[in-house]
Amino acid sequence: MAKQWTGQEPLAQDDPEMWELVKEEKIRQVNGLELIASENFCSRAALEIMGSCLNNKYSEGYPGSRYYGGTEVVDKIEILCQKRALEAFNLNPEEWGVNVQPYSGSPANFAAYTSVLSPHDRIMGLDLPDGGHLTHGFMTEQKKISATSVYFESMPYKLNPATGTIDYDILAENSKLFRPKVIIAGTSAYSRLLDYPRFRQICDDVGAIMLADMAHISGLVAAGVIPAPFPHADIVTTTTHKTLRGVRAGLIFYRKGVRKNPKTGKDVPYDLENKVNFAVFPSLQGGPHNHAIAGVAVALRQAKQPHFRIYQEQVLKNSKAMAKKLNELGYKMVSDGTDNHLVLVDLRSKKLDGARVESVCNKVNITANKNTCPGDKSALTPSGLRLGAPALTSRGFDETDFEKVIHLLDKAVAIASDVKSKTDKLKDFKEFLDKDEATIKSMENLKKEVEAFASTFPMPGFDDH
Ligand SMILES: *Cc1c(COP(=O)(O)O)cnc(C)c1O
Repeated sequence: MAKQWTGQEPLAQDDPEMWELVKEEKIRQVNGLELIASENFCSRAALEIMGSCLNNKYSEGYPGSRYYGGTEVVDKIEILCQKRALEAFNLNPEEWGVNVQPYSGSPANFAAYTSVLSPHDRIMGLDLPDGGHLTHGFMTEQKKISATSVYFESMPYKLNPATGTIDYDILAENSKLFRPKVIIAGTSAYSRLLDYPRFRQICDDVGAIMLADMAHISGLVAAGVIPAPFPHADIVTTTTHKTLRGVRAGLIFYRKGVRKNPKTGKDVPYDLENKVNFAVFPSLQGGPHNHAIAGVAVALRQAKQPHFRIYQEQVLKNSKAMAKKLNELGYKMVSDGTDNHLVLVDLRSKKLDGARVESVCNKVNITANKNTCPGDKSALTPSGLRLGAPALTSRGFDETDFEKVIHLLDKAVAIASDVKSKTDKLKDFKEFLDKDEATIKSMENLKKEVEAFASTFPMPGFDDH
């Protein structure tokens, strides 16, 4: 008789098909050049927690008041995560609280809105094509795309096309007409620092709540290498898996204590704590992901260590090294450079677009994503390519290594350029990549070069998956 299933079987034995796929993905990550600005390589310690028994526990509610029994340990874990979240950003627990239960960045934002807005209340966020995020109220002329534009009334603000930086003057002007209840200061594809004092001023002028969404930059903020939104914002949301380098989850920080009303000068108590907590649970979520909360806590502890600051400083250096090399090779960038972990290449200067270059990159195991640049008409063939330094910096890449990365990327661009001159539409371009012998050969050679280079660097996480 076949041996009984016990639940103790390792993945390779229990589900060989899935095991093979994970292995395949591991090989892709180790051999590739990961330049997606929102990605990172999480530590082994934090990944270990994701596969732990914490996955098994239900604990709806908050520490000390749960709807389930057996929560003594997860209470301690959630409280520890809260404490570490405040410590990671040097926040005084008298002034700030944090909810660590959001499943990810998008649910964190929706919960933050739910906490302070009623349906049809107004929000203003940076438009998606200008570097904002879907959850900042994204809609097109044809359609309301993000639920944040379905349930709330959204008006975007934009970049100044001449400078590639946020047009604060027009935001100030439009906010006086639109009178939003929340203004969001946060970006997903923007290579400059945000002017938080200016956002605060604009919010105060119209009585809006200032919500900073630091999803992309929270690791840089925790390390203190770029300015923090906390001195200015009322609510701060973040993901935990981008520059912060933890497991996938979201956090919502909210103000406590009192705030001086800028018009009357009177102290007004903040009432965000109960509203934010109620919005996360029971309004939007059920049982917290205790394994993720513990994984975030592990990453937040790492974020207080000296090695984390060195890492984030290196991220900034590497990002600048990319910009410098791109500049030398004749590439234009939105805003002409970078102050953070990413650069936005404007491929119009090379008579190319992000879609074509991205598809060649994919074939040679350089992973980056197409992105809109100011003035773009099409989201399917946008002019830009977004390149981020966080992931490869976690593998120990330094400035010289990043110059080599850009050199390899430039070879991919040359292939794209050649193929574009021989084809018409994007569809023809992609078909040509799949069938032209000479192009296939040159991409194979480049892929070999990429893999020979990338595979020499260490990879955080488990050895076998
Ligand atoms: C990535 C991101 C989010 C959403 O995070 P998910 O975890 O993907 O849901 C929200 N806001 C900004 C600014 C982001 O860059």
